[in-house]
Amino acid sequence: MTPKRRILIVGGGTAGWLTAAYLAKALRLAERSHLEVTVLESPDIGVIGVGEGTFPTIRTTLQFLGIDEARFIRETSATLKQGIRFVDWARTPAAGESRHFFHPFEAPFYAEGLNLVPYWLLQDEAARLPFAQALTIQQRVADARRAPKRAHEAPYTAPLNYAYHFDALKLARLLAAHARQLGVRHLQGTVTQAGLDDAGAIAHVDTPELGRLQADLYIDCTGFRAELIGGALGARFRSARGILFADRALACKLPGEPDDAAFESCTIATAHEAGWTWDIGLNGSRGLGCVYSSDHLGEDAAAAILRRHAGAAAGEIAMRSIPFAPGYREHQWVKNCVAVGLSAGFLEPLESTGLVLIEAAVGMIAEMLPHSGPMEAPARRFNELMAARFENIIGFLKLHYALSGRQEPFWRDNADPATIPGRLAELLAQWRLRPPGRFDFALDTETFAFFNYQYILYGMGFRTDLGAGRDDFTQVEAADRLFAKIQRFADRAVVDLPSHRALIQQLTGAP
Ligand code: FAD
Repeated sequence: MTPKRRILIVGGGTAGWLTAAYLAKALRLAERSHLEVTVLESPDIGVIGVGEGTFPTIRTTLQFLGIDEARFIRETSATLKQGIRFVDWARTPAAGESRHFFHPFEAPFYAEGLNLVPYWLLQDEAARLPFAQALTIQQRVADARRAPKRAHEAPYTAPLNYAYHFDALKLARLLAAHARQLGVRHLQGTVTQAGLDDAGAIAHVDTPELGRLQADLYIDCTGFRAELIGGALGARFRSARGILFADRALACKLPGEPDDAAFESCTIATAHEAGWTWDIGLNGSRGLGCVYSSDHLGEDAAAAILRRHAGAAAGEIAMRSIPFAPGYREHQWVKNCVAVGLSAGFLEPLESTGLVLIEAAVGMIAEMLPHSGPMEAPARRFNELMAARFENIIGFLKLHYALSGRQEPFWRDNADPATIPGRLAELLAQWRLRPPGRFDFALDTETFAFFNYQYILYGMGFRTDLGAGRDDFTQVEAADRLFAKIQRFADRAVVDLPSHRALIQQLTGAP
């Protein structure tokens, strides 16, 4: 008889349960008696409990897991997210002034083989529409608080690309229930020590509650503690603090507002003197946070910014202070241990990349997992791909800071060329003369596509000078017709699509 292959996932936060459910589904756990997947969760150490914004890949993941979309929306107090509204990023706002741009999930409209981006770049700057508004209908749909879909549309599909906002604790609970249904074992115990064998692999973990536990593969989902990958195996942490300065967050939850305020269909990221705040409307509550650099701002000042942002709703709000180190472990798979979630690394949640990184890691583990032989066989490739993915996200996040014309010390420090990764600096130089394109990026290690870069660049007012090639762009009239068509589609969409609130009510069966 083939011996059982045992996978022990240490940690029962979003990373632990998502990994468990995903592996159970991908490896057909229920049908295979020689495989065992266990989640070991500490009854004493809590989960991080933040992380409300996501990226559209989450829809594919939830659908793959077999979780009904309406149930997911109901049980996690979810709302639908169509992108991020960036407020006050491009320059320090004058008193009473506020400027914003939108980063939608929808790719720029592309039809009749015509790339509209150069034609937008060649338009008169003073007269043209903002980039996202000119190239998609999604900004106008989100601004009008309309949903990206109608209730009768098939689960997880829609005319417009979308993700969700949800309550992180409720999501972990839902994933846990689902993983158990898929055959995952659940144990309660705290790992106090991990023993290594002669080759330096994990031989066992010890818990006061359950004694000694052994497995073939250990998945470290212990959050920032990184008990196995960091504590036991000493995998080096690569700090990104020299590029991304934010290292703290203050987070709070407010009750939902009776009017439509909580039903924005996007995350609102507002820049402040030393970082930014997030504002996320959930069904019944509102998640707020202030992300900042402790080298540039004290906690009291950050709290004042958050309180001001929360406005009338604030009263006496309870805030949680969460320090974090931006960066990642260069080796996330070491011997028979692989880290997923915060134990592998963390980058500020500006573009909601926490869950995306978990999805990327677990997708690779499911495919690369050796059916026999040494568990460390995929380590080199896995580490290469994950490190590249982290680096690419670091570059994309830095773009938001490097392009700002804000004048406070935090922002000026951010624009210092010495803090801009070489690859990004090189691309920025090229993008002065042509827009980002698909050959700039290698798909398997990217989270963001060339058009995501376009939205940030042109939203922030970056200039690409196509003047010298103007005569090569001969389809101006056809482009103008398409630009007009996008606006007509947008006019219709804001009337035809239901309000975001109405859709959530319909999907959750609320009166
Ligand atoms: P945790 O939630 O910390 O879970 C750790 C688990 O390990 C717990 O169950 C704990 O009991 C267990 N554990 C710890 N030590 C032991 C031990 N010795 N023995 C046994 N068990 C142990 N992500 C997004 O996608 N979008 C966002 O908008 C977003 N915002 C964020 C904002 C902030 C301020 C932060 C810090 C993170 C944010 N994230 C976001 C990231 C997101 O929260 C995490 O990626 C996600 O929650 C996964 O966390 P985790 O499961 O790795 O860790």
